[in-house]
Amino acid sequence: MIQSWIERVEREHRLERDALMSLLGDPSCEESLASAADRVRHAYVGDGVHLRGLIEFSNICRQNCLYCGLRRENTKLSRYRLSPQEILTLAEKARGYGYRTVVLQSGEDAHFTPEVLCPILRAIHKMGLVITLSLGERPFEEYQAFREAGADRYLLRIETTDAALYHQMDPGMSHDNRLRCLRDLRSLGYEVGTGTLVGLPGQTLESLADDLLFYQKMDADMLGIGPLIPNPDTPLGNASPGDFHLTRRFVSMARLLMPEANIPATTAVETMVPGGREIFLCSGANVVMPNVTEGEFRQKYALYPGKACVADTPAHCRGCMEARIGRIGRFVASDPGFRHHTP
Ligand code: SAM
Ligand code: SF4
Repeated sequence: MIQSWIERVEREHRLERDALMSLLGDPSCEESLASAADRVRHAYVGDGVHLRGLIEFSNICRQNCLYCGLRRENTKLSRYRLSPQEILTLAEKARGYGYRTVVLQSGEDAHFTPEVLCPILRAIHKMGLVITLSLGERPFEEYQAFREAGADRYLLRIETTDAALYHQMDPGMSHDNRLRCLRDLRSLGYEVGTGTLVGLPGQTLESLADDLLFYQKMDADMLGIGPLIPNPDTPLGNASPGDFHLTRRFVSMARLLMPEANIPATTAVETMVPGGREIFLCSGANVVMPNVTEGEFRQKYALYPGKACVADTPAHCRGCMEARIGRIGRFVASDPGFRHHTP
């Protein structure tokens, strides 16, 4: 049964909810799933790995997600906000490292209004870089202003499609508003990325299967999936970490269901298991987001403890990633890596 499901999802890129749940919950199928996902990745998006330079430009956040070190009630975190010039300097450096895309990520920092952010976006766009934003929830008009100023893509994880769990984990936030944001981003012509935080306390296999079906239904262009890493300075400090292997099966299944999507091997998997990024690149993933943030700020963007590569310099990350990608028989893609559309 298990093998026939894997063969079917590899061939048809769809599967019923019950079968998804069984495969996600079965450690014995992990290698077969990863191999099937790796074949589908090779066939649809090729062997090139896209590098996206990550700029963590503010760790100030008005939200209070129970799992995240940037939550507003975490008084232990020393807060920072980069100036427009500092952001542009990092983008320039990212271009110098050969990155074709920069990902501008932050907490939900109200300082970065369209008036502040749009000139920065226009300047980065002029550098010839593709821009991905990951700033959280904003009104339609702001997403529109950012799009017009040159933003191409937007990452906003749904975290979980279980609305009750979402409301528990992200107090004061609304699942419906999260869905509204994803719809707005799509309607504005962004490439839209979403994804799951695997291992939230109370998350079930049912809800993980629903997450996969949700990605498929919304035809997500990008999927950011990572395990929960408990942060002692948050209410989930004593929670169990997300399961590395369940996360791997989930990513493999995401590739099988969404053959054309761009799927990163996330920093969280590398933090949990050194070499985890390569394992995920061989299990369906095709993107890595090396950090371009420098010095003290890199340490202060502390979503969770022990974040991989936090002591490295951006130049080191660039060289290290290229070598690691070469060692698994892949190469760094030279194109900007927009979502692939099979004719
Ligand atoms: N504020 C924006 C948002 O929430 O969409 C973007 C930045 S937020 C730090 C990016 C992602 O970090 C979130 O979507 C969440 O899944 C992840 N994250 C936060 N805390 C985490 C933790 N303790 N372990 C693993 N991932 C975490
Ligand atoms: Fe803020 Fe994003 Fe962290 Fe939630 S996950 S506290 S919105 S930075």
